[in-house]
Amino acid sequence: MTPTPEKVLGDAFDAVNARFEFQLSAREIGRVERTEGGIIGLTGFSRVGFDEVIEMSSGSKALAMNINEDSVAAVALSPGSVFQVGDTAERTHREVSIPVGEGLLGLVIDPLGTDLSTGAATVGSEHFSIDRRAPEILQRAPVQRPLHTGIKAIDATIPIGRGQRELILGDRQTGKTSLAVETILNQGEDMVCVYCAIGQRQSAVKRVIDLLHGSKMRDRSIILVASGDDPPGLQYLAPYSATSIAEWFMLQGHDVLIVYDDLTCHARAYRELSLLLDRPPGREAYPGDIFYLHARLLERATQLRSDLGGGSITALPIVETKAQDISAYIPTNLISITDGQLVLRRELFERGHFPALDIGRSVSRVGGKAQWPAFRSVSGDLKLFYSQFEELEAFARFGTRIDDQTRARLVRGRRVREALKQRAFEPQLPIEQIAILLAATQGGMDDFEIEDFADAEHRLLTHVRGSDLWLKTDLRQPLSEQQIETLLSDIDGVFRAHGKD
Ligand code: ATP
Ligand code: MG
Repeated sequence: MTPTPEKVLGDAFDAVNARFEFQLSAREIGRVERTEGGIIGLTGFSRVGFDEVIEMSSGSKALAMNINEDSVAAVALSPGSVFQVGDTAERTHREVSIPVGEGLLGLVIDPLGTDLSTGAATVGSEHFSIDRRAPEILQRAPVQRPLHTGIKAIDATIPIGRGQRELILGDRQTGKTSLAVETILNQGEDMVCVYCAIGQRQSAVKRVIDLLHGSKMRDRSIILVASGDDPPGLQYLAPYSATSIAEWFMLQGHDVLIVYDDLTCHARAYRELSLLLDRPPGREAYPGDIFYLHARLLERATQLRSDLGGGSITALPIVETKAQDISAYIPTNLISITDGQLVLRRELFERGHFPALDIGRSVSRVGGKAQWPAFRSVSGDLKLFYSQFEELEAFARFGTRIDDQTRARLVRGRRVREALKQRAFEPQLPIEQIAILLAATQGGMDDFEIEDFADAEHRLLTHVRGSDLWLKTDLRQPLSEQQIETLLSDIDGVFRAHGKD
């Protein structure tokens, strides 16, 4: 019987497929031809895939990134001296993956999953590729639950919701890392935190490790480090590895907070690799796909639908600006990718205004919906009031004669400014923040001199912490006029009892 044309065609396909699969899985041994600045030139690989891991005879690894007809350029994932011209190398048929799971909590690891305190590989419950696809739009839910940072200025004026991506932007040494770490320290048992250090100084990383490991969040956090001394290849992988670890927890229904410190260093590492790989430079010499790279990374942070477990990843990427220039290439990219930004200003930092948050330029595009309703009744127009006050103050500096009403607004504004200051690592509960903001915005503190403000604030906080009236306030409901009245008269009572008048 002659076979049907379909059968002939089917057999031919099967033969081609079998041959193709054989080629895909075939063992291939290559040779190191050159090593230069973290890039390894290899020959002898004809079927290596893009982003495939190549293992050297010494056991160290590299990532195939440029694939030419007769050679492959790979990015070293271990320091340079490990690679020698003439070494043999083998393809692994794998992309980079990382162990994920509960076992990682409390550890400090590198982007390939090595425990940095023991030097051994970590053991996870599963392995995740570091370059997973972001959840689809239909799997996502709106950002509706607050992520309480404990920092008044943020919670009141630029609230962050779980599942949001909020950029932290500022010059060198303006408190960017402190802000992010403080937010981690203020989380509770219900949050898993991942801190990813990219290209930072060892001393800065150590400071963060000490802070986190000396706190209650030690067993709820994972620190992933690719420091400035590590090869650029590892720095490039770091945020993706960290996100895969975070994703595992999100898929188990947990809320995760991830900090990328910082993406400027990440962009620089990628630029270095791209230039060494002879890829064409674009704006500010960055390769053209740097936007895509960061967008693909941050797209993975989201709030999942409740029938998919309801987990979330909130991302706080950090970016360093030069001379406050937020319109440079990488900052503008990231501003357009994220759902808002916290801008830190050097002048404020130098004046001792902590946190040095520029409220006028900072914005949270989705967090307002996630803010506690009770909070909203207190801080609703705070941002507008404060911005107007700053303008008014700048104007009043010219020595213009001002009327009584304007003077009163200046007095009030200065009290609000004091109220928004907060010392590092002194987090406040939502109800404590509400008390101080109510007192400052409604005039309860107008009679205090600025120097006495901290003292008055302390007194009020001590009262609130022991008062049922405050502690029993339901944050899930907006405050009624009458409630606000009662709270205000309570505040007045506290100050009067201590001889405000
Ligand atoms: P870099 O650009 O080097 O990464 P950074 O912007 O991350 O710096 P930090 O390292 O967080 O800044 O802080 C710089 C210094 O300012 C630190 O010594 C820190 O202790 C101090 N600092 C930061 N925030 C506060 C604060 N709220 N109150 C008091 N000091 C602070
Ligand atoms: Mg820093």
